[in-house]
Amino acid sequence: MKLTDLLAQSNKTLLSIEIMPPLVGQSFEQLFDRLTPLVECQPAMINVTYHQQEKVYRERPDGTIEKITLRKRPGTVGISAAIRYKMGIEVVPHLICGGFTREETEYALVDLHYLGIQNLLLLRGDPPPNMKHFTPEKGGHKYAVDLVKQVTDMNRGIYLDDELIEPNPTDFCIGVAGYPEKHYEAPNFNIDLRNLKAKIDAGADYIVTQMFFDNQKYFDFVDQCREIGIEVPIIPGIKPISRRKQIKAIPKTFHVSLPDPLVERLIACEDDKQAYQIGIDWAIEQSKELMEAGVPMLHYYTMGKPGNVVQIIRAVFG
Ligand code: FAD
Repeated sequence: MKLTDLLAQSNKTLLSIEIMPPLVGQSFEQLFDRLTPLVECQPAMINVTYHQQEKVYRERPDGTIEKITLRKRPGTVGISAAIRYKMGIEVVPHLICGGFTREETEYALVDLHYLGIQNLLLLRGDPPPNMKHFTPEKGGHKYAVDLVKQVTDMNRGIYLDDELIEPNPTDFCIGVAGYPEKHYEAPNFNIDLRNLKAKIDAGADYIVTQMFFDNQKYFDFVDQCREIGIEVPIIPGIKPISRRKQIKAIPKTFHVSLPDPLVERLIACEDDKQAYQIGIDWAIEQSKELMEAGVPMLHYYTMGKPGNVVQIIRAVFG
């Protein structure tokens, strides 16, 4: 079922969980074991992230350099289909611009359509870990808005080859990312917001936010979106802090800020065990306030370690 239809039918806050594909070489059983406690929380949706290829440079014995492409976390489409059909849970595979030509994107969309997967989160993608800047593939998309346009075209039966006879339209429900504290590359917040509106105008159906730790940032963001005519559901993204060193690592990696009371609690704690509990308590407080404010869905980032998220969900959703 489409995520927007689920939201329209529900009068309570729904649950969404985001997982990463395991490292290459692992089995579905290993993934299944890790997913079981999350599935017991009965999420309405499971998102499966997509990760661009990593490129590494190695020096050959003759001194020349070779570029090697590694795929460390493949399997987004297959894992999504397995969760959908083996576990009976609706899925949202992520699709990114990075590493794909438009033709490859079309093939991935055709596969997803045949698999009966109706929801997608469309993103530009981050640069791979060993690269500083995002570089699109030759013949690929530079911004998420272009990927949204490709999918909305396919939803209208417009494929890349305009000579197709009676092309079959797809019917994807499209999510995109939004940044309550601005995307790090945008020159200012208003420009970033305009770029977000362009994704909605191109056909996106809902927004999932980057993590934030101060709910006021989300509430202000929703108000600013509504002011410029963005009317689609805006789903808050929550990530619990799990270690003391994340006081620095999270702002550096995700370009988000941590509020004073959270930082003070983390500085005062004695070890990572305490920090883990503080992260859980903070996320529970955040989630309960968001739920009381009537958010349509809560989206939890698990980043491969779902233990704390399971505890938060049990406390918030009962
Ligand atoms: P875009 O919407 O393309 O925006 C990127 C930047 O370009 C912004 O600064 C924007 O303001 C600017 N911009 C947009 N359009 C234009 C234009 N026409 N002209 C000039 N500037 C423009 N990354 C992954 O690799 N895999 C994932 O699975 C993944 N999942 C995510 C899930 C969520 C909910 C979120 C919030 C992020 C996720 N990311 C993921 C990270 C995401 O890919 C990065 O944040 C990336 O840097 C930006 O992606 P985007 O789709 O927001 O890009």
